[in-house]
Amino acid sequence: MLPLLALTLLFINQCDVNEDAVYRRIRDHADQVKVINTHEHQHWPEEYGDHHFRFYHLIATSYLSADVSSAGANGYDWNLMDSLSLDELWNLYGKALDYTRSTSYYSQFVKGFQKQYGFSDLYFTKNNIAELSVRVEDIYKDYKSWFDEAFHRAGFELMFLDQYWKPFNTQIDEKHFALVFHINPLVSESSNKPEKGSELKSIYKEADNEGYEINNLDDYLEFCDHLFKKNIEKKAVCVKNSQAYSRTLYYEDVPYEEARSLYEKTSSRLTPAEAKKIEDFMFHWIIQKSIEYDLPVQIHTGYLAGNGNVLDNGQPIKLNNLFLKYPEAKFVMFHGGFPWTGEYAALGKMFRNVYLDLVWLPQISRQEAVSALDVMFDCVPYNKFFWGGDCAFIEESTGSLEFAKDVVSEVLANRIERGLLTEDVALDIIDRIFRENAIEVFKLELKLGRKF
Ligand SMILES: [Zn+2]
Repeated sequence: MLPLLALTLLFINQCDVNEDAVYRRIRDHADQVKVINTHEHQHWPEEYGDHHFRFYHLIATSYLSADVSSAGANGYDWNLMDSLSLDELWNLYGKALDYTRSTSYYSQFVKGFQKQYGFSDLYFTKNNIAELSVRVEDIYKDYKSWFDEAFHRAGFELMFLDQYWKPFNTQIDEKHFALVFHINPLVSESSNKPEKGSELKSIYKEADNEGYEINNLDDYLEFCDHLFKKNIEKKAVCVKNSQAYSRTLYYEDVPYEEARSLYEKTSSRLTPAEAKKIEDFMFHWIIQKSIEYDLPVQIHTGYLAGNGNVLDNGQPIKLNNLFLKYPEAKFVMFHGGFPWTGEYAALGKMFRNVYLDLVWLPQISRQEAVSALDVMFDCVPYNKFFWGGDCAFIEESTGSLEFAKDVVSEVLANRIERGLLTEDVALDIIDRIFRENAIEVFKLELKLGRKF
């Protein structure tokens, strides 16, 4: 007979083996899903100018660059990246890069290279960067082909494209992307009407180009409605608001008459409170249009990318009044609302029209994603979750997806182990988060006119 200790160890060991096997089956299943990625900012290299992309250029366009900066390095300088040798660049950034080896930004970036380049190390080093850099330089000579190949290798079927840097562009590559109507300028420019004779910018320039004259709020709304129609014609699947980067997410309910008379004022004479009122009115107007045109409204909540900003602007609870006022709108809160993951989950539970997109949460903190998602599964039905990548280039989107699959599989395997879930339901949850929910809620077959 085995001593008790040995029996106990054998039992614990057996549990680990079972849990590992369950995890493996779920994770393998996730790799079979053709992923509908509900949020991306994919760029083409030429959008950055004449730079020859190498490894450091990819870091500079990634989230990891913020951690390197946070660790004390100067921001990535595109001219230096072009002109300095890899040794010189390592001397500039290597030490700070090494300090980021513990962060999720770092690990998900590594994962992208493991999947796409067969990179097998856990860390970037002076030596392996040299090898990777040569490959990046070579591959990026024909980025379009590489993108297509890597897109399928990663497991994507479709990406929603949010072009915040050129929000009026509706010409996109429909083979890989679905158009997102980015509405920040419609809101922010409503309090920024150009003075007579001054150069037209942003939405006013766009209006002028399209033959619209804007003299009052009604003209402005007419042009905004035209932009809605134009985006819908180009098969836009949703609206996106990332205003937390520049203002609070609390949008007061401002009457039309008040907004109209404030719009009459010279913009430079508006007080900040008055400017906010016009903008608040505009977002309410946009939500009403989103109901009319059946477009879900994606909203950035929580943590803000980059280094330095006003964190509480993006607190999810600030949206509560909108969720109450517009039960017919579909709201999609982004990023787990980190660090307010609890209130984010609570809002998803309270409102049938509030959906939760896990986009970016695993990259911000893998462990927070695991803990928060476990809580979310306790609170929120699983037909209300989506996943998005939120990256500039395919390598990082791949790492983001790999990370998210790891996180969701880990949480599900653990819940099976605790007797809270069966494996067949866990597999259904994977299908739902990474694909089916998006097809259903965004009505992709109807809007894009194709089968999924
Ligand atoms: Zn984004």
